[in-house]
Amino acid sequence: MAAHQSLRTHTCGELRATHVGERVTLAGWVHRRRDHGHLTFFDLRDRYGITQVVTSADEAPATHEAAAEARNEWVIQVSGAVRRRPEGTANRELPTGEVEVAVDEVSVLNESKVPPFYINEEQPGLEEALRLQYRYLDLRRPPMRDRMLLRARLSSAIRRELEAEDFVEIETPLLIRSTPEGARDFVVPSRLQAGQFYALPQSPQQLKQLLMVAGYDRYYQMAHCMRDEDSRKDRGPEFTQVDIEMSFVREEDVMAAVEAMVTAVTRQVVPERQISQTPFPRLRYEEALARFGSDKPDLRFGMELMELSDALRVVDFRVFADALAAGGAVFAIRAQGCGGYSRKQLDELTDLAKRQGAAGLVHLSVESDGSLRGPAAKFLEASSAAVLAATGAEPGDLLLIVADADRATAATALGQLRLEMGERLGLRDPAVLAYVWVYRFPMFKWDADLNRWDATHNPFSAPVWEEADRMEADPGGIHAQQYDLALNGWELGGGSIRIHRRDLLERAFALMGHTLEGMRDQFGALLDALEYGAPPHGGIAIGVERWVALLANQENIREVTAFPKTQSGSDLMLGAPSPLDQQQLAELHLRVDLGG
Ligand code: ASP
Repeated sequence: MAAHQSLRTHTCGELRATHVGERVTLAGWVHRRRDHGHLTFFDLRDRYGITQVVTSADEAPATHEAAAEARNEWVIQVSGAVRRRPEGTANRELPTGEVEVAVDEVSVLNESKVPPFYINEEQPGLEEALRLQYRYLDLRRPPMRDRMLLRARLSSAIRRELEAEDFVEIETPLLIRSTPEGARDFVVPSRLQAGQFYALPQSPQQLKQLLMVAGYDRYYQMAHCMRDEDSRKDRGPEFTQVDIEMSFVREEDVMAAVEAMVTAVTRQVVPERQISQTPFPRLRYEEALARFGSDKPDLRFGMELMELSDALRVVDFRVFADALAAGGAVFAIRAQGCGGYSRKQLDELTDLAKRQGAAGLVHLSVESDGSLRGPAAKFLEASSAAVLAATGAEPGDLLLIVADADRATAATALGQLRLEMGERLGLRDPAVLAYVWVYRFPMFKWDADLNRWDATHNPFSAPVWEEADRMEADPGGIHAQQYDLALNGWELGGGSIRIHRRDLLERAFALMGHTLEGMRDQFGALLDALEYGAPPHGGIAIGVERWVALLANQENIREVTAFPKTQSGSDLMLGAPSPLDQQQLAELHLRVDLGG
């Protein structure tokens, strides 16, 4: 351990029974102190752990007195002999718990005000704003420290694995011209060129493709990306992604390389967690939607969606009949043993379905005689046998059914209910990591607001080669060579094989409403480069914060980010964003108009 520094001989996580008898010097923060009159015990803490040190009024009275001043979070340096703790007082929870340091010298390196929250114990209800304002104190707390160290181990394992496979890290600039990734750009005004702006990268997409043209056939970068969009639990305005691009590859090659890296890294970093299935399961987008109601399914549990469209086709129930007549679908999930759910519980589920875009939720419980109970049961009497047969539902079960004129809407709403029921029934085992590939996405989706087709992933993705001819004739029917990696219900990353020929890329851009001029203006460098021997290539990007959060069983990426922004994009510690003074504005040729 790299402990030997001028102010200490060991870290606070280092001493063991083998050190007994050695004279040591430790430095760290007072984590906790216990006064026993003539003996004072301090838990001394640093990044590496906690060591108990003791001062004694009998053995070293002056030191004992000097140390008595030290309060929680003061920084002190102590020297003394390592000794075994007295019989029966060893602390098995602490790696250093067998020993203590009998202190004969102490110096206070710095005092501390009383921190605004406890560092040495969990404080339920602790306000996040306070944690973010005093993040340097929050980061001292052992659970935060553990997550930061986990993140560091993850980054380092990623680098090791990729470099062992001949990937080279190449940094790309932060001041660039915008690449669309579906979000708004953060922009930076140019001082030297009045009225001109840089964009901060939403991702290094065009640059990594240009590196492929340049011949760096296995590139990666721990890339910092910025997107001006609303924050969510799994998304902030800036984040890091493992950005990868490879040449001379098909989808299969990228997925295999990434899967090997992800598996190896997971095993190294969280050996105690179980990867539910290797090789990772692969689901086509349509299959993922039909079976799990999601393009990022949580595969830690079953409870798959079942399609009831056929079983219910003849039913005289408006909700189903209308949806089916309009070409939609009816899907159900079976929640085993939930037939006794209360009115309140069912209302909560109905609200959830509505929030997810469903018109409503039909719930049926299966009675002990096999009959169905619920507000819609009387309309379904004739088909109840068909429903039971199609779902395999048994007495005591609850069936949740969603119908919609739009298949995807019905499936996704029910997909959210599936997650909710999985949660309520404790089926989302926190020990398990269920990686899954979802691939073969539709290439384009219709944007009704803009009245044009848009790329489902990014505009550089290639169509499935055999379908490319049909691009203009049937934009909605062709698929992209695109793959997402999901983990426990989160999208961990996504990528694609790219279009590497200029004519095809121009055709795709044209479908997305770009004029020739607009294309040259926005993507000129890439379009030109494709005419200078661009190899077939493809890649992926994996969100680091999401990955660490899932490995650390956290629900919010702020918990694994050292200095995150709030929901509204503020840095409460540094006080950003903030106004510029007049001189800075003038240099940047800017005038602020808050007039609205
Ligand atoms: N640039 C894409 C993204 O950031 C990833 C990729 O296609 O490689 O989502």
